[in-house]
Amino acid sequence: MSIIGFVKEQLENERRCSILPLNVKAYVKLGATILVESGIGTSVNIDDSEYIDAGATIETDRACVLAKADFLMSIHALSKADLEKTKTTVCCISFLDPFNALEHIKWLQESGRSALSVEMIPRSSRCQKMDALSSQASLAGYVMVAKAMSTLPRIFPMMMTPAGTLKPAKVFVIGAGVAGLQAIATAKRLGAAVIAYDTREVVAEQVRSLGGKFLAIDIGETGQTDQGYAKALTPEQIEIQQQAQADCIASSDVVITTAQLFGRKPPLLIKKDVIAKMKPGSVIVDMAAENGGNVEGSVSGSVVTVEGVTVIGTGNWASEVALDASQMYANNLQALLLEFWDAEAKTISLNLEDDILQTALITHHGELINPTIKALLTQESV
Ligand code: NAD
Repeated sequence: MSIIGFVKEQLENERRCSILPLNVKAYVKLGATILVESGIGTSVNIDDSEYIDAGATIETDRACVLAKADFLMSIHALSKADLEKTKTTVCCISFLDPFNALEHIKWLQESGRSALSVEMIPRSSRCQKMDALSSQASLAGYVMVAKAMSTLPRIFPMMMTPAGTLKPAKVFVIGAGVAGLQAIATAKRLGAAVIAYDTREVVAEQVRSLGGKFLAIDIGETGQTDQGYAKALTPEQIEIQQQAQADCIASSDVVITTAQLFGRKPPLLIKKDVIAKMKPGSVIVDMAAENGGNVEGSVSGSVVTVEGVTVIGTGNWASEVALDASQMYANNLQALLLEFWDAEAKTISLNLEDDILQTALITHHGELINPTIKALLTQESV
């Protein structure tokens, strides 16, 4: 029997946690031993006693959880200082940001520790219930609209009153993936007039089905990877996109940018000269600010004014709705555990032949598993 440990998140602005009492109950029912760091649910108003009632053992000393666990589940990757307190055979399951953490991954490999990156779980129907990228991005889409709404000095819906008629706010969403589609749906529910653009034309129908308009821009061949991710555009295509969307941006009250490229820096899509054409007081929310930004002048972790327009780049969006985000993330982890649960041995059993683990496992017992990360690290060390 192995011990599954859950520790408190360490980042200052992180309010989510990786387990709720309901998950403890489900794990205990399977016969799992659950060790939880005291205070894990404080930021979402869940007391230690609720975890104890559900069947977990609470440990006040973080180092003890780290030292005893065979599997450690968290939202963000554990720091090296934390990992040095763990067993060298431990398997950590969390977001890992693997493309930007190559040095850390090398250390994990060399130290023998295993790491499973939830963002590398395949985007297949079998994996939908474990898809933490989608669960958190969907909430991010909602939060970004809520932030824009509370910042804009206008209301979203049309209002006809004896005191005059208010036109609906115009919201332009760039990037209609998981976060963008939720932003479109949320803005639409609030009564805004919504328009959206994505380089993957396959999403045009989804945008329309949510009541949005799709901005047609002919940038030539775009395509997507076999995982459904957008391919990077050429500089010429980016230029065409920037010009073609400029008028739409200028006439929008709110622009929400969610354009990302998996494993790469997001494209810069809105330059300052276009921001200057927006009405003063308009709002841009840059989902990609923490990775370099879709918007010139956006600042990661901050709200700034660029050419009279409020540009929100606060990031860590799902943490703003921490209880729901924790519930969804913890359920994603639970689904992952169930997929690999060995009922007889009462432990997680990692079968390396499984296609989920072939991509999601980054390191395992001193080996690099994910082929892309392996290739990147092998190239780097050549
Ligand atoms: P993402 O976060 O990598 O990107 C967000 C969006 O930005 C994407 O729609 C992308 O096409 C778009 N984009 C990139 N460059 C752009 C540009 N220059 N201009 C405008 N838009 C641009 O993507 P995601 O939201 O995580 O979704 C990735 C894919 O995975 C999608 O195809 C989605 O449908 C698919 N998916 C599948 C499953 C499943 O089958 N289980 C689950 C979730 C997502």
